[in-house]
Order: sequence, then C-alpha cells, then structure tokens
Amino acid sequence: MSNYKPSENGAQALSLMEQMNHEQLVHCFDAKTGLRALIAIHSTVLGPALGGTRMWMYANEAEALHDVLRLSEGMTYKAAVAGLDLGGGKAVIIGDSRRDKTPDLMRKYGEFVERLNGNYITAEDVGTSKADMGFIGERTRHVTGRPEQDGGSGDPSPVTAYGVYRGMKAAAMKAWGTPDLGGRTVVVQGAGNVGRYLSGHLLSEGAQLRVCDVFDDQIERIRAEHPQVQVISPDSVYNQEADIYAPCALGATLNDQTIPTLRCRIVAGGANNQLADVSLHAKMLADRGIIYAPDFVINAGGLINVYSEIKGYTRDEAMERTTALYDQTLKILEMAEQLGVTTHEAAVRTARTRIDSRAVLATA
Ligand code: NAD
Repeated sequence: MSNYKPSENGAQALSLMEQMNHEQLVHCFDAKTGLRALIAIHSTVLGPALGGTRMWMYANEAEALHDVLRLSEGMTYKAAVAGLDLGGGKAVIIGDSRRDKTPDLMRKYGEFVERLNGNYITAEDVGTSKADMGFIGERTRHVTGRPEQDGGSGDPSPVTAYGVYRGMKAAAMKAWGTPDLGGRTVVVQGAGNVGRYLSGHLLSEGAQLRVCDVFDDQIERIRAEHPQVQVISPDSVYNQEADIYAPCALGATLNDQTIPTLRCRIVAGGANNQLADVSLHAKMLADRGIIYAPDFVINAGGLINVYSEIKGYTRDEAMERTTALYDQTLKILEMAEQLGVTTHEAAVRTARTRIDSRAVLATA
C-alpha cells in the first residue's frame, strides 16, 4: 500500500465540483492500457447524462478536470434548451489521440462507462471517432454515435454543422434583418468535422470563407473538398475583418485577449465553451456590439442526432428538429434584447426554466 498524502488539488477538485453543482465525478485509471479519464455527471434531472468523450493532450489533471466540469455543465443546458429529455455529462481521456489511442484503451474505458449503469451515456467528441464508439460499445450499451452498420446513428458532425449553420442564419437575421449569408465573409477556426461540414453549407449559400487549422492534413482535406476556401494562419484568426467568426476548434477562444481584437458583427460556431468566462466575456462581446449566438444553443444538432439513437427516430426527424434551432436561437437573441441581458444569460435562463419545472414536478 502506498503512502497517502492529502492533495490540495484533490480538495480543489471537490470544491469546484460542488460549486458548479455537479452530481458525480469519476476518475478512471488503468495502468495496462494507459487509460486516464474523468467522467463528470452534471445533472440527471431531465434524463440520463449524455455527452461526448474528448481525448486531448491536457497539460495536467487540473486542466482536464476544469474542462470536463465545464463541458458537462454545458451539456445540461444544451439538452434542456433543445427540448430533449436528457441530463448533462461529459468525459475526457487524457492523452494524444494520434499517438496514445488504442482499441483496448477504448474498450477499457467502455467498462468504466458500463459501471455507471446508464446514468452517463457517451458519444464522440474531439479526438474520438465513431470507430472508437464501436470499441466502447463492445463493453457497454451506454454509447451513442456508433457506426451505422452496428445499428448506430453514425457521425453526428454533419447534423451539428447544419444546426450551427441554422443558428448562424438566425444571428444574421438579428444583425442584418435577413438570414441570407450569400456574400458574407465567414472565418472558420478549425477545419475538423464540424468546420468542414459547416463550410459546405456556407459555400453553397455563396459565403466567402477563410479557414485555419493547426494541422496541415486537416487543411489539405478541406482544400480538397472545397478548393475555393482561403486558408489563413491560426494566429491571424481573431483580427480578420469579416462578418462572422465561427469558432469550430476548442473552447475559451473568446477571452480578454481576443475579444478586443475581433472585427466581426457575429460570433457563431460549433465549439463548446467558447467563452473563457461566461459572464464577463458575454458582456464584453455585447458591449462591443457583437452578436454572440450561444454555443450550446446552436451546436445541439449532434446531441439531437444521438438522442434519435436512444429514442429510435430517423435522421430525417433529427434534421427537422435541428432545423428548428433557427427559431430557438432567434427567440433567445430577442429575449436577451428585451430583458437587457447577454445572449448567454438568456440561453441559460431558458434552460434553467425547463430544468427547474421538471425538478419541481419530481418532488411534488
Ligand atoms: P475535430 O477534432 O474534428 O476538429 C477540431 C479541429 O480544430 C481539428 O482539426 C484541430 O486540429 C483544430 N484546432 C485545434 N486547435 C486549433 C486552433 N487553435 N486553431 C485552429 N484549429 C485548431 O472536432 P469536431 O468534431 O469538428 O468538433 C469541433 C468543436 O465542436 C469542438 O469544440 C467540439 O466539442 C464541438 N462540438 C462538436 C460536435 C460534433 O458533433 N462533432 C457537437 C457539438 C460540439
């Protein structure tokens, strides 16, 4: 038995979890496969906590913890605003998905998910794929977004991107009185799954695209699919003069450093947790006259799609519900204006109203 030394980080983790009102936090470790993961369940009031598993090279455990707590809270609000009977959860695997990921590591992770008895249901996220969902699915039933040939709903990214596109059109309606994106300049940060599909929608409507990514192979791929995109360097993304900035990479790109340099009218993208500090940075954007389409409202398409796998409805129905994100986004943008609050705050209030009314029903 090794010596026990109380760790300040451990205490901080628990206090952060309680402050953010999480129900459960699980640390998963397996020396044989090298698995180090955290699963956070924020809320199960509306239903089982569904959220993807991210694999990323976090600098340390504290960074991973912070990410998983914030991401899982975002999932609670996302499901609530989209009208789904789901709670919020998320998982992170600490490691380089290009180097450390193996089928056995994913299977082992699936065993940990299984032990949560369906309180947490996983799906893909940055650094994981539908093939990984297949490996996880060998050890647990509580996984969505498995390959179509295994009865799953497949890659949710096209549906997510379509929802982001619909939300972006709602923001355009609010900004310019027309949802038409033809001729608008959009800067897409991240040429991954969501960024690529989103680019397809925007180009077919006649938008001008500037795209960046930190990996050359991702740039090559988007160039092959859409030769008309203009490639820009990742460092120059924030001070591009453009109509719309679409963050489709990682979170916290809207912060003290970037917001003052933005030269766009709208921020609308697929990335989760775009605001480094939800109150402060939502307000900074509003003060600069930039319309922020809340990330968890407009990127709900993927969640709607994996929900279809649980409820047994078709991709067409998922697309129909995702189309409605236009109306939901516009409603939230109008509500923010009427109440004099930020668009993020309006979206959180919409989510909390639904969660609170269900919680009251449950205790009545
Ligand atoms: P992905 O891994 O396929 O793509 C992300 C891309 O961003 C990668 O190509 C990566 O190289 C690039 N990137 C990372 N840091 C960057 C930086 N600083 N500058 C430029 N590019 C950078 O992931 P994805 O599935 O496209 O998801 C993108 C975002 O959308 C994530 O935040 C994810 O959580 C969110 N999201 C995805 C879905 C979905 O259905 N895939 C659903 C909801 C939310």
